[in-house]
Amino acid sequence: MAKTMIEPFRIKSVEPIRMTSRDERVRLLDEAKLNVFKLRAEDVLIDWLTDSGTGAMSSRQWGAIMEGDESYAGARSFYRLEAVIRKITGMPHFIPTHQGRAAEKVLFTALCKKGNLVPNNCHFDTTRANLEYLGVEAADLVIPEGLQPGLVHPFKGDIDLGRVEALLKAEGGRIPFGMLTVTNNTGGGQPVSMANIRAYAKLLKQYGKPLILDICRFAENAMFIKMREPGYANTPVADIAAEMFSYADGATMSAKKDGMVNIGGFIVLRDDRWLDDIRNNLIMMEGFPTYGGLAGRDLEALAVGLEEGLDEDYLRYRLRTAEYLGEKLDAAGIGFVKPTGGHAVYLDARTVLPAMPVAHYPAWALCNALYLEGGIRGVEIGSVMFGKRLDDGSETYHKMELLRLAFPRRMYTQSHFDYAAEVIAEVKERAASIRGVKIVKQPKFLRHFTAEFAWVG
Ligand SMILES: *Cc1c(COP(=O)(O)O)cnc(C)c1O
Repeated sequence: MAKTMIEPFRIKSVEPIRMTSRDERVRLLDEAKLNVFKLRAEDVLIDWLTDSGTGAMSSRQWGAIMEGDESYAGARSFYRLEAVIRKITGMPHFIPTHQGRAAEKVLFTALCKKGNLVPNNCHFDTTRANLEYLGVEAADLVIPEGLQPGLVHPFKGDIDLGRVEALLKAEGGRIPFGMLTVTNNTGGGQPVSMANIRAYAKLLKQYGKPLILDICRFAENAMFIKMREPGYANTPVADIAAEMFSYADGATMSAKKDGMVNIGGFIVLRDDRWLDDIRNNLIMMEGFPTYGGLAGRDLEALAVGLEEGLDEDYLRYRLRTAEYLGEKLDAAGIGFVKPTGGHAVYLDARTVLPAMPVAHYPAWALCNALYLEGGIRGVEIGSVMFGKRLDDGSETYHKMELLRLAFPRRMYTQSHFDYAAEVIAEVKERAASIRGVKIVKQPKFLRHFTAEFAWVG
């Protein structure tokens, strides 16, 4: 048997990459005030900013787009997608939204009130923001192993059941439902085990609380269960996903992830107790219940994408891609969050730039260096994203300095990954010459998107 795992697709339509020189990138990054968010995408060679809505659709999906029924009410495309979602999730009620955060807003507005508390392994940033906006406390209760980047553990996304139970005992009156994010994006794209989902659901049930899953990457999570959890090696991934859903009362989804589409989202629910409130919110915030902020063609593309996202050859290749890059980084002595997650690799900037003080933002510096050396764009998850400048001018820093490289689905081939590994190793070789940055202009909130920087040293 050949060892190389090939991409399980061939390419029908190509999008050229505009090649740039290092000198050109120096100028472009300067013009972008040393902030890769401000670059034009066409000036990036390998764009690993996010896996959200950035993937390639299949010829089947493009074909389905022509079948879109754009009727305002009762479109055929709605019923087609509803049937697919019912089959995959086993949940009868499907509410389309334009993306994941809209699903969260519509659901939370119906279910939560000020002073509530919602436990989760780790809330994604839009999930947390939507809860906090309603005056709800968002508690992150991932297991301690999930917070140690270098530690290898098969299910670092598991929620800490001991802490959940303590919270249910002490604060049960404030908790409208429990959430669980599969895979745990904020925690490095790490999966949650079936045993953990089952036990969490049981615990919530004892206290009369429903379980809502955040299922953006449910197919990747199901594949991790198949590969890592005893007893599932021979179970079809679709059956594993169905078992995951069987423990839940509802779910929110950003279809821009495992839905394999460029835009879309939805809510699913097992029973109709919240349905009227949710549909009323939907009409106000998104649209009529049979389209909810999407075009008929988007519903068609998603109906096909959800099935393709559960294909085991695709999923095996997908998870192997991240692992493959991880092996090359290991060989070059570069630290990253282990084991590699489903959709991204998180470099530990401190292993590449050990001498750089945190005040010079090493993960941001590494991000800039990857762009200058190789035209690669990632996202800093460190002290620019999570630190703050206080009113007295002093700074707070994040406990980790990570650079996330997130992989669009079905878009980059093995040679792109080989190239990236070479660029990262090259940057490590030249660590002594990599410069840190200082912030010269920043907004009060979410500063990483728009802040402007200058070199230090
Ligand atoms: C992307 C994401 C969301 C939000 O979805 P959008 O489509 O970006 O609005 C929510 N939860 C998780 C875990 C995500 O990864």
